[in-house]
Amino acid sequence: MKYSRLIVAAIIAAFVLTACSSTNSGNSSKKAKYVFYFIGDGVSLAQLSLTEAYLAQLNKKPGMQQLNQSKLNAHGWFYNYAENRFITGSAAAGTALSTGHKTSINTIGKSADRSQNLKSISYKAKEAGMKVGIISTVSIDHATPAAFYANADKRNQYYVIGKQVFTSGFDLFAGGGFKYPKGRKDTLPDLYETESDISIIRENKEFLEANQNKLPILFAHQRLHSDGAMPFAIDMNEGDLTLEQIVGKSIELLDNPNGFFMMVEGGKIDWACHANDAATMIKGMIDFDNAIGKAIQFAANHPDETLIVVLGDHETGGLSLGNETLHYKTKFDLLQYQTMSHEALVEAFRPILENNSNFTKAMDFINKNLGLGGPVELNEKDKLKLKNAWKATSNHNNEVELLYGSVQQFLFTALQMLNEKAGVGWTTEAHTGLPVVVHAQGVNEGCFEGIMDNTDVPKRIEKAMGI
Ligand SMILES: [Zn+2]
Repeated sequence: MKYSRLIVAAIIAAFVLTACSSTNSGNSSKKAKYVFYFIGDGVSLAQLSLTEAYLAQLNKKPGMQQLNQSKLNAHGWFYNYAENRFITGSAAAGTALSTGHKTSINTIGKSADRSQNLKSISYKAKEAGMKVGIISTVSIDHATPAAFYANADKRNQYYVIGKQVFTSGFDLFAGGGFKYPKGRKDTLPDLYETESDISIIRENKEFLEANQNKLPILFAHQRLHSDGAMPFAIDMNEGDLTLEQIVGKSIELLDNPNGFFMMVEGGKIDWACHANDAATMIKGMIDFDNAIGKAIQFAANHPDETLIVVLGDHETGGLSLGNETLHYKTKFDLLQYQTMSHEALVEAFRPILENNSNFTKAMDFINKNLGLGGPVELNEKDKLKLKNAWKATSNHNNEVELLYGSVQQFLFTALQMLNEKAGVGWTTEAHTGLPVVVHAQGVNEGCFEGIMDNTDVPKRIEKAMGI
């Protein structure tokens, strides 16, 4: 019995070894010279599947309409618990994904007790002669991007983290800006004015016209929110840059004979999930996936030298496809009637509140922007629920606090109603402990199949890079 177990273990070990040392072309001497590390913040199988099922239902097709990430060659999943908590956060998860070490909640690039700095894979790539780019839709000092270039005791030390952009020696930072460019009290030297060799670009056109002579570059998207993040994909206007455009331009800027390492975060997917806002999450997933499309295009021209890895850091919202209200029914296509994110809805709704408008005006607003009472039918119970929420909002200014901002009670109720009627389930406004998925294609893609730990991911990428 014991002997046969040993044989099984040996066979499994041999299989893992083979899977992890072969490449797509079967030649293990190939190294990943061009590395794309895509991180969807808050993304697990539910976020991916809801997006794919939504697209299928929108196009009146059964099942899923696969995104780019699902079409990659290798798929696996991994555990993401933190050193001191089962349900992780973006700082501990980001540190595991950048350094290969578990750490404590809220810690950036340091050991769990914060006594030692940990080295990110991006510094190792830089030392190997590659160009390094860090891209995110949230502020560049936010936990996930920070884990790739900074060391800080706490993720909310935004200024301390932001300063490390200028000492990193990296070639490109793009997407969001700084959350507190002059510190929390607005009294410190402006990080956007920092004297360094980094070209600081604040205009979208200037970024699109930049060439490699301008490197190193820090590009902060022209239209930023007060928290330094880019707008949600669903709220993009003409002139805003999509993540796809930013990644496309970044490839052009970083491409060189010694290769590059690029970390791209779809950061606002997590924020949409914290607000239990499925329509905004879906648009964020599509924007993130379009950016992956750019990497796939690049890889087609460098098939033996590229590695694309796509994953989430943790799940947010306890999202599920199906809920108690609809039982076996799903109507995900109803989410198409939401015209803007919860964040933009809050702003657009403000004048209605300030002008002492009545319930009818409020209902017109959610008809126009969420389809409620229009293509999304309401029954008497729904109307009563909305009326009560309207009273709480108009009489007492009741707001629901979210992790990122707040929403008027009336709008929050309306948003929940749309999600419920679409057959979307949410169990929390926080993260969950669900394992997350990883997709890969290119050099050593087989290393990303099966079950692993989040700390394994950067180690396997390093292996593919030969560092
Ligand atoms: Zn989060």
